[in-house]
Amino acid sequence: MSTALSVLQHTFGYSAFRGQQAEIVEHVATGGDALVLMPTGGGKSLCYQIPALLREGCGIVVSPLIALMQDQVDALVQLGVRAAFLNSTLALHEANDIEQALLAGELELLYVAPERLLTPRFQSLLHRSNIALFAIDEAHCVSQWGHDFRPEYIQLSVLHENFPDIPRIALTATADQLTRQEIVDRLALQSARVFLSSFDRPNIHYTVVEKDNPRKQLLYFLRNVHPGDAGIVYCLSRKKVEETAAWLQEQGLRALPYHAGLDTSTRQANQTRFLREDSTIIVATVAFGMGIDKPDVRFVAHLDLPKSLEGYYQETGRAGRDGLPASAWMTYGLQDMVLLRDMIEQSGTPDEIKRIERQKLDAMLGYCEAPSCRRQVLLHYFNEDATPCGNCDLCTNPPQTWDATTAVQKALSTIYRSGQRYGAGHIIDILRGKDTAKMRECGHQHLSTFGIGKDISEAQWRSLLRQLVAMAMIGVSEHGGLYLLDACRGILRGEQHLQLRKVSEARQWGGTKAST
Ligand code: ADP
Ligand code: ZN
Repeated sequence: MSTALSVLQHTFGYSAFRGQQAEIVEHVATGGDALVLMPTGGGKSLCYQIPALLREGCGIVVSPLIALMQDQVDALVQLGVRAAFLNSTLALHEANDIEQALLAGELELLYVAPERLLTPRFQSLLHRSNIALFAIDEAHCVSQWGHDFRPEYIQLSVLHENFPDIPRIALTATADQLTRQEIVDRLALQSARVFLSSFDRPNIHYTVVEKDNPRKQLLYFLRNVHPGDAGIVYCLSRKKVEETAAWLQEQGLRALPYHAGLDTSTRQANQTRFLREDSTIIVATVAFGMGIDKPDVRFVAHLDLPKSLEGYYQETGRAGRDGLPASAWMTYGLQDMVLLRDMIEQSGTPDEIKRIERQKLDAMLGYCEAPSCRRQVLLHYFNEDATPCGNCDLCTNPPQTWDATTAVQKALSTIYRSGQRYGAGHIIDILRGKDTAKMRECGHQHLSTFGIGKDISEAQWRSLLRQLVAMAMIGVSEHGGLYLLDACRGILRGEQHLQLRKVSEARQWGGTKAST
């Protein structure tokens, strides 16, 4: 009888299991249910592929990644595995052939889109077939507050009801505590053993730069830190994807757009070029990336703030799967925070969901405004302890702080005196005594705080306001107007001192300017 190790070596050509793979394979091959939380690139596929080969019958793999099934199956067939897939891209007769093969016991692995799996026709087919296991890939798609939510995933609990004796293994690279609990509840995995791998990706260097001129900052990063490298640039909107890709092209970089609004053939062509070429940059919305297996992605850059640390972690996890040094880089400014807060408030979702979305956004802001090691913040979010990593911008270039008490008082009273409804730009103009049309229109040149902050740079003021928002001392209205919150009272009364982080040019340019 073949053992797990011999299948690993003879079928897949690897010499040894990695991390928890051996334990997971053993557990599932002997009939146990499992929930596998492993970072992207950790080697999740083998965790269900090998048990499927070891057990009698066919392993059914549920995956939302229809576009990638063909590739995954081709790779398995190359290795001599009897694998196939069923999704909407197949012609009727092709699908029929595969169903027949399943019934006849000729398949070892079958990849199925969730919507197909749930049809009565397919359920009846399953009852007449010999099933080795069910693997539920990208299991976080069951989470309603994640950006990958797929309604069909919720119904996958029928697998447990209809086939209680067949082992199930759910896998994901995204799972904070909340998502993890949702997966367990919705997929009825209460008795599954949980395999939690460390989420640390030590080869990824994390950097957050303060937004100044984001395109130029990006270009600087691409040219100085990653010349000629392949990578992904994420933007929030389709429009920005197109504009950014076009602009990078004008600068002489090989950049291609990718978003759900492009026609299928362009999208496919751009994805293929990115996968095959060594130095192509893909500029994309978050629609791009799930399941993309390109080991030598050297950087993932964000021009807009992601909505949650989970999303951010998953997107950045696409860098450096080969274990070689890679970067996660992001520009971030007050405007991002305002925009995302707004999107939550305007979304029309129930209050309960809004509350969770706000918490997730706050954790994201906590990462951006972290006082020390970013990796510590990330790993804490996934309930892991860590020591300062030495491989993030804050470890290699610790931020300087200053006693900002007086400056903060000036900013707070400016916000107060101007009526608590103006945005950061105008507040800073008042503080710096700028003569603008808006200033004269509002008569703000007569405020007692007009011009009292000339000694502090605009960038420093912006950073100060952002830190105050992150600390919930000031709030931002839906139109971007700043207003005071209770927490700022102590400072206004002079009872509290405040150390804030200084902006530095080096940090705006990713901490690389000094060294180049
Ligand atoms: P995930 O689904 O967790 O992102 P994959 O299953 O796609 O990860 O595996 C990532 C890469 O690591 C693949 O190229 C895979 O072939 C390789 N890999 C997985 N397990 C091993 C192993 N035990 N030894 C060597 N390479 C492995
Ligand atoms: Zn660090």
